[in-house]
Amino acid sequence: MAMIDVIRADEMSRFDRCAMDDCTGVVFDLSRNRSRKYCSTTCTNRAAVAAYRARQSE
Ligand SMILES: [Zn+2]
Repeated sequence: MAMIDVIRADEMSRFDRCAMDDCTGVVFDLSRNRSRKYCSTTCTNRAAVAAYRARQSE
């Protein structure tokens, strides 16, 4: 495989769908450890609230 293909494949792997179920946003993860899951801070906050509520209801 040519080096340019490796780079392109790596770049494409940075694109992912937002982990929020009802969101169709696209995540472009530039972080080194690929830790980004949500397209925006709005989704990140909603996920945090949902996780908090889930813990409370247990
Ligand atoms: Zn989102």
